[in-house]
Amino acid sequence: MKINIAIDGPSAAGKSTIAKQLCQKLGYVHLDTGAMYRCTARKALDCGIDLNDEDAVCEMLKNTVIELTPDGKVFLDGKDVSLAIRTDDTSMAASTVSKLQRVREDLVARQQEMAKAGGFIMDGRDIGTVVLKDAQVKIYMTASPEARAKRRYDQNIKQGIPTSDIATIAEEIRQRDWQDMHREHSPLRKADDAVEIDTSDMTIAEVTEAIYQLAVPFL
Ligand code: C5P
Repeated sequence: MKINIAIDGPSAAGKSTIAKQLCQKLGYVHLDTGAMYRCTARKALDCGIDLNDEDAVCEMLKNTVIELTPDGKVFLDGKDVSLAIRTDDTSMAASTVSKLQRVREDLVARQQEMAKAGGFIMDGRDIGTVVLKDAQVKIYMTASPEARAKRRYDQNIKQGIPTSDIATIAEEIRQRDWQDMHREHSPLRKADDAVEIDTSDMTIAEVTEAIYQLAVPFL
């Protein structure tokens, strides 16, 4: 039987990297829900829509197609935006639009529809608490602020994404996490039944194995 696995946690804790590894091991599909908030923010920025104007952003979303392909690419209205949505300004803008309740409702409904069949590893901020409350395995992934800033910096360099220095990234991550944890609707928090994993001093293989072992009883 195919189950669903929920991975939540603050920015750059390693959620996507681990989800991808685990998907390879299990033959599951990764659903990066952050990419959907990033697409929403990117399009609003490009269309000159005020990120705090809930009506305008929701109206825009009605005519917005977001596709996440199994090989990790992100298409916004048919255009490949996989790298364009990873810039620092898009990250902060995503955190801003993600405060809007009706934006969340729209994207959560899309995520729940996608995950219906099972066999998904979904990462985000509200997966274990809202999107997949019944997920068989729930992980709350953390890492020290230093480890997270360094990882994001290395990832930007590796993927050719324009990047700030590590100190600036650390500050951006701090601000975004604060915003994500203190918003009114679906703030980032550990689900009561989630297992917390601090990845600061763990290798990718170790974290992948730890979550795999939690999933084994359900496979
Ligand atoms: O995971 P990622 O860093 O790509 O997410 C970008 C932003 O989207 C987060 O900072 C958060 O504000 C928002 N988000 C969210 N709920 C999710 C996934 C992402 O609010 N499930």
